[in-house]
Amino acid sequence: ARPILAIVGRPNVGKSTIFNRIIGDRLAIVEDKPGVTRDRLYGIGEWLDREFSVIDTGGIEVEGEDQIMKSVRVQAELAIEEADVIIFMVDAKAGVTSADQEVAQLLFRSRKPVVLAVNKVDNIQRQDEIYEFYSLGFGDPIGISGAHGIGIGDMLEAAAAHF
Ligand code: GDP
Ligand code: MG
Repeated sequence: ARPILAIVGRPNVGKSTIFNRIIGDRLAIVEDKPGVTRDRLYGIGEWLDREFSVIDTGGIEVEGEDQIMKSVRVQAELAIEEADVIIFMVDAKAGVTSADQEVAQLLFRSRKPVVLAVNKVDNIQRQDEIYEFYSLGFGDPIGISGAHGIGIGDMLEAAAAHF
């Protein structure tokens, strides 16, 4: 069986952008989980000739802060169940938010391996924006940019160490 990598994080950090970068031109499969969430996207990625499954957990559309936190929580829990390694994605432009801190607590308790990816580090000048994310407690944050295709290899290398 392929190892499973799940991308977890609050809405709008860039999970789907990275998911699409990872799967490339391979098609994603949508799975509905009745009563829990919808639009879980499954795809296949490849790292150094090894295939892995990748899950984009962020397909749900919600309004209002309570709803957002609820869906983030549910998605994180599902990912924790299924994944061999989790990409915890945050947003360099937004900085650390309370939603990020809540996701961090869930991931801590899971004891699954977590790679902390700071998205929207679009150029080298922004690299110093990753440091505040050390406070989330998952070690070295990896700066990436889904928009510009920066750092994706470093992120996958760190994740593949847990395959
Ligand atoms: P998701 O809700 O976590 O799946 O986030 P999306 O992938 O839908 O992206 C949310 C927004 O962030 C979109 O407007 C993207 O175009 C934008 N975005 C994604 N990646 C980057 C990036 O690396 N840099 C910048 N500046 N914007 C990005
Ligand atoms: Mg999305």
